Amino acid sequence: VVPSGGRTGLAGGAVAKDHEVVLSLVRMRRMHAIDVLGRTVVVEAGAVTQAVHEHVAEAGLVWPVDFASKGSSTVGGNIATNAGGVRVIRYGHTRQWVLGLVVVLATGEVLRLNGALEKNNTGIDLRQAFIGSEGVLGVVTEATLRLTRPAPKPTVLLFSVDGLAGVLQLFRNVRDKDFTLGAFEFFTDRCLARVMRHRRVADPLRGASHYVLVELESAAEEPVVAWFEELLEGGLVTDGTMAQTSDQARALWTLREGISESLSATGLPHKNDIALPIAELEPFCAELETVFTERYPHFEICLFGHIGDGNLHVNVMKPDALDKDAFFATTHDLDRHLFELVRAHDGSVSAEHGIGLLKKGWLEYTRSATEIELMRALKKVFDPNGILNPGKIFDL
Ligand SMILES: Cc1cc2nc3c(=O)[nH]c(=O)nc-3n(C[C@H](O)[C@H](O)[C@H](O)COP(=O)(O)OP(=O)(O)OC[C@H]3O[C@@H](n4cnc5c(N)ncnc54)[C@H](O)[C@@H]3O)c2cc1C
Repeated sequence: VVPSGGRTGLAGGAVAKDHEVVLSLVRMRRMHAIDVLGRTVVVEAGAVTQAVHEHVAEAGLVWPVDFASKGSSTVGGNIATNAGGVRVIRYGHTRQWVLGLVVVLATGEVLRLNGALEKNNTGIDLRQAFIGSEGVLGVVTEATLRLTRPAPKPTVLLFSVDGLAGVLQLFRNVRDKDFTLGAFEFFTDRCLARVMRHRRVADPLRGASHYVLVELESAAEEPVVAWFEELLEGGLVTDGTMAQTSDQARALWTLREGISESLSATGLPHKNDIALPIAELEPFCAELETVFTERYPHFEICLFGHIGDGNLHVNVMKPDALDKDAFFATTHDLDRHLFELVRAHDGSVSAEHGIGLLKKGWLEYTRSATEIELMRALKKVFDPNGILNPGKIFDL
């Protein structure tokens, strides 16, 4: 049985490759009334992420799990993948925003975990085992979500900088200011070129190799303008723009959020989603560049991601002249080089998309043999016959 939500997952977690039964949750999409005092809402697993955002906005609240696929992804899928996104730097992952779960086990038993309790120190918190377990331990049918107030006045800025070193310098700089950082996202000129081609939009800045989108929460205009001028005058950025209206802010966000879709619309990407400790980003990227220029000089690499969380999306585009099979034959080798570097820098082979089927072979690059054995043992406790999402994350 393969649990399935919005099917936006990028690791093949909801794929039934061995003729399993697909259990779609999308018709279980009821959203209950909001508890404004407790700031919670109970929703069924098939509720679409964006529909939850719209539902809770009626009470002036937000569920801050937010990313480009929110129009199709479901709360059940968000929980099963412990989804991250563009606001992790400020609000954390889905895990931080789920109070209670209702889960159906492979045996048919129904577990009600934690309800709407903020505090519950009564032993091992089983709820957390299901969050991020990619449907291999149980089927999430309902969740009690924790809500918060929206940031009153987000300010969105886009900067161009020189190289990844410039991106990280800007990160260090903004973190030392008294601003509340709502998002710190980056992309390269190659990503932007594809968004411009696909979405027919213009580059709002003077061309550069790297771009950074910064969102500040509740920042007064005067210190932001002073900071903006300081960056331009000090040469830390080569150009910049600050959205003056919500339409302009949305247009800047489109440049970042349109990347995934634009890469697929304008070519064939081989995707990876890795994470590094922030302090390792610079040496890692320098070594990665050497690997790519020495071994794969004919591949176009499109880098973007939630750089403030140490999360890089590494997309390798298929050259037009190369046939698809030949390309994917090469990418396995390329992944090995990439993941060896990730391991050497104590990173993760999957920052937010999960392991599913596609990253199964690389799990041991991030998790120890003992950890993987314990995960298998846990699977056997919850699902002794191995009928739930078989073959995902690991083989039994
Ligand atoms: C353009 C784009 C941008 C994206 N950006 C991000 C991002 O910034 N951050 C991020 O984290 N992800 C991102 N993703 C990946 C994806 O959207 C998330 O992983 C999302 O949480 C998956 O939700 P879904 O409902 O589509 O799940 P599905 O794809 O249907 O399933 C994903 C996994 O969850 C399991 N599952 C689904 N529903 C249940 C359930 N009810 N009970 C138990 N298991 C279940 C499935 O078996 C599968 O293993 C992006 C994807 C796209 C296409």
